[in-house]
Amino acid sequence: MSKLDRCIAPLMQGKTMDKITPCVQVTEARSSGQKLIVTISDGINSCPAVIIKPSQPVDQYAVIKIYESLKHTKEIVIIVKYTVEERLDAVIGNPKPYATAGASDTSSSDKVKTTSTSKSSSSSASTSVQPKAKKSSGTTAADNFYDDGGMSSILDDDKLSNDQAKPISNLNPYDKVWVIKARVTQKSDMKHWDKGTSKGSLFSIELLDEYGGQIRATFFNDVAKKYYDAIKERSVYFFSGGKLKDANRKFTTIPHPYEITFDRDTVIQNARDSEIPTDTFNCTRLCDMTNVEDNMILDVAGVVQNIGETKEFTTKNNRKTKRCNISLIDDSSSPFCTVDLTIWGDMCDTHDMQQGDVVILKSVRKSNYGGVSLNTINSTRIFKDPGIPIYQQLSEWYQNNEGSFDGEGIKLTQKQAAVNSERTFKRKNVIADCKNMSVDTVTAPDYLTIRAYVSYIKHELWYDACTNKECNKKVQQNEGIYHCSSCNHSSDTCTRKFLANLGITDWTGKQYCNAFNQAVEKLFSDMTADDMCARAAEPEYMPYLLGEKTFTRYVFTVRVTTETTKEPKLKFTIIRVTPIDYAREAKSILSLIRDYDI
Ligand SMILES: [Zn+2]
Repeated sequence: MSKLDRCIAPLMQGKTMDKITPCVQVTEARSSGQKLIVTISDGINSCPAVIIKPSQPVDQYAVIKIYESLKHTKEIVIIVKYTVEERLDAVIGNPKPYATAGASDTSSSDKVKTTSTSKSSSSSASTSVQPKAKKSSGTTAADNFYDDGGMSSILDDDKLSNDQAKPISNLNPYDKVWVIKARVTQKSDMKHWDKGTSKGSLFSIELLDEYGGQIRATFFNDVAKKYYDAIKERSVYFFSGGKLKDANRKFTTIPHPYEITFDRDTVIQNARDSEIPTDTFNCTRLCDMTNVEDNMILDVAGVVQNIGETKEFTTKNNRKTKRCNISLIDDSSSPFCTVDLTIWGDMCDTHDMQQGDVVILKSVRKSNYGGVSLNTINSTRIFKDPGIPIYQQLSEWYQNNEGSFDGEGIKLTQKQAAVNSERTFKRKNVIADCKNMSVDTVTAPDYLTIRAYVSYIKHELWYDACTNKECNKKVQQNEGIYHCSSCNHSSDTCTRKFLANLGITDWTGKQYCNAFNQAVEKLFSDMTADDMCARAAEPEYMPYLLGEKTFTRYVFTVRVTTETTKEPKLKFTIIRVTPIDYAREAKSILSLIRDYDI
């Protein structure tokens, strides 16, 4: 069976996909004129799509490989180039329609390297016992639930083995029977809630396996009571059975799309020796922090630039506590930027951070106080371990630049962070950049260079223009006389000039722009508006011309200005249309790659 690529979520979010040419299954297809209206699925999610110019017949259940696609609107993907890979007769998986509000991803991932690649073998004694993920005849974990008692809740035998364990990264809601072997890298306190009608308790753990996969897991009520004392932080266990659901990134830095809810069918067994590292970090660089939603939990690495005094204060609930501000810097932008971290409570006395220390902070909460800032939470842990790769990188950077950090650095505010991020990753613009601009940021004309497809051309393409040299203003016709109210010129003829409204689309979205005469002439291969107007009398001509031009690709230079006539709003005008020079584009990408110096 064909392997589908998990691409619907990134496609819908306008993000870069793991695979440039992903395979998807067409779960529904119907033709509409020349187009094909389809639903595509990656086995997990599905979304509506349009195949603009079908080059091969696409039947229901066909697996297609997408070579070029665009995000037309928020909800629809346009497939420009594809091939049919396989014809099937059933849906793969159980895809759910993709909901547009997606969670954000943390950007980079640093793993503590294992010192050896040899795998433990002592606990892999061969056994035919299958993991008990479902109730079956005979004694199950669920039947034993109340008989176990707290101490014996974790099995100490060989029912689950290394041979059965699969990588955490492969866990998904559709695979009901699984075993993982993982280290508990973090365990929360038992939390209780009481909301009148619902009452209960829970605790959660974070798991890490030898392949670097991580996932968060939660135990509720009886199950929580059963395992809370038995599960030890840093220990390694086999886990089997439990439900997978979408991860909630408000509670974790782990990038896994799902999280586990352990239940009565769960089996947990001790696993002794293991090469699984004790921690991994999904560090977000300081300059990328504005891409992260407020209140998200992050891992962050930086150098301590300043440590403020610890201040005691009384909370709204009349509780005495304390806080201490430190500022962190890192090498993610040039000049370096600074982010404040507030340490709360007893951690003020225990943190052991000194000026100049490289620190890696596991689980801090992002807030928008003062632009962008960070706060410790109960589960925050601070590492100063030279074995962590990012430690070395920051340490070298700090030593090489010592003395140049005397200034304030750039305080990371939302706007500044966007600028820094731009500077760090220099690249051509994308449509998403249009969406990120606002009347507050565009005070002078700004220019974007965007490689995009023409996805929409409004049918009124030209206007009657004044024949007075250099005027080109719109004229009014009255009894065969064209009058220009701008230069007061009257004539029995007029000329046509283009004034077009175009939609341009790339993989990040769609933007409507105006385009004046020169740009539109270029778009139509130097055809003048007068020529087009003359030929438009042929009934088939305009539909043919516009159809041919739609979904062709150009480099557009777009001028962005703030229009202040009524409500201030942004105005996008295409001032140049350039055919794509593929050789030049390739060279520019090559030089970009060289800049990364890898
Ligand atoms: Zn005029």
